[in-house]
Amino acid sequence: TITTEETRRWLVNFSKRIEEEKQYLSNLDQAIGDGDHGSNMARGVKAVEEAIDDDSLEKPSEVMKKAAMAMISKVGGASGPLYGSAFLEMSKSVDEKDLDEVVEAGLNAIKKRGQAKLKDKTMVDMWEPVVESLKNDTLTKASIQEAMEATKPLKAKKGRASYLNERSIGHLDPGAVSSGYLFMALIEEVE
Ligand code: ADP
Ligand code: MG
Ligand code: MG
Repeated sequence: TITTEETRRWLVNFSKRIEEEKQYLSNLDQAIGDGDHGSNMARGVKAVEEAIDDDSLEKPSEVMKKAAMAMISKVGGASGPLYGSAFLEMSKSVDEKDLDEVVEAGLNAIKKRGQAKLKDKTMVDMWEPVVESLKNDTLTKASIQEAMEATKPLKAKKGRASYLNERSIGHLDPGAVSSGYLFMALIEEVE
């Protein structure tokens, strides 16, 4: 399990990365979507940072729940409710369960909400291999990088990118990349 402070540092580190890579994420979304993934995420994580900068939050679950609410209320795009559902579901187990199970609960929430499966070129293509890696104790920055790259040859089946059909092939999925930053931040703050 992780501590309240680790949870906070994880999310703050995620926020810093998103802010740094905001333009890159929007450029990725420009290629196969509407070009707003970086700005959507930056708005969301800024709200997350503000919401969790609160000494009255005593448990990881309380931090995670605040983060979920911030993502849901501040991010207009598809990604907001998906990250929000993931964080909300994770908040239910983060106080007691090991991280692999916590992240798996997040993955299941994303799948339930978005109805995407592996290889549909979505966030699921990051969350699912990460759950596997956490279970096998093989989560590294390289494995995350690999999962990002693996979205490139895929044809999008869900979300805006799916409107492009074949033309979505050959580009990284923006949501898989931003999710990769979430797990890189996890490695840095918790592992
Ligand atoms: P929007 O597409 O509404 O502009 P964003 O640009 O913020 O929202 O987010 C796009 C990302 O959301 C995609 O790159 C993809 O990873 C993710 N996404 C979209 N639809 C789904 C879905 N049904 N299931 C999982 N992830 C999805
Ligand atoms: Mg978009
Ligand atoms: Mg949009």
